[in-house]
Parts: sequence; structure tokens; C-alpha cells
Amino acid sequence: MKAIQLEKPGSFRVIDIDEPSAPGPGEAVVRVHQVGICGTDLGGYLGKMPFFSYPRIPGHELGVEVVSVGQGVTTVRPGDRCSVEPYLNCQHCHACRRGHTNCCHHNQTLGVHCD
Ligand SMILES: [Zn+2]
Ligand SMILES: [Zn+2]
Repeated sequence: MKAIQLEKPGSFRVIDIDEPSAPGPGEAVVRVHQVGICGTDLGGYLGKMPFFSYPRIPGHELGVEVVSVGQGVTTVRPGDRCSVEPYLNCQHCHACRRGHTNCCHHNQTLGVHCD
């Protein structure tokens, strides 16, 4: 499948990436329909966002459709239209254990720290 990659500040390119594998337990595969562009993305494009690393497939404000779900997923089902919480957290650190997953010590933000 195709993706748009910010290979370095100021330079996008279209790349081929693998199709996603089947979702694991607690996971879902989604199809992106809409992507918002915010100041974080602009900062990444300009090379002024200190958290950004390159190359990166940007985008963290996502309007998606659920394609398939893994074992144990009960909150969404294929065909649902959703937004995506872009902050990946560990569920084990002090912040996560207190319910402050947005402050996870191991936070990975989609489109910023990971593709
Ligand atoms: Zn944003
Ligand atoms: Zn955590």
C-alpha cells in the first residue's frame, strides 16, 4: 500500500509499505479516511518540532473505519467510524497505573514518534 512519508524537514515522498497484518488481541486494523493537520505536523515539516524523528509517516488526528478486530475487542466492530487516540501508552508505569495514560513515561505518539 502507499503512504506519504516526511523523509526530512521540507521533503515528502510517496513510499510503498506492507499491508497491515491481522490484528492481535486487543487491537484493530483501521482504514484512514481523513487526516487533520495541526501545528505539530507543521512543526515536523519545518524541522522545528523537537519530538519529531525522521523519516516519519505523519498524521495523528485520524478519522478511520474499523476493518477488523482482534480477540477480546468489544468496544468497536468492523464498519464503525471512529477517531483515534494517538498516544500509545505502556499501561505499567506510574502515570499509567494512576490512569494518566497521556503522561505515560514511555509515550509514543502516532505520526510523531512512530509511523
Ligand atoms: Zn495535533
Ligand atoms: Zn505508561
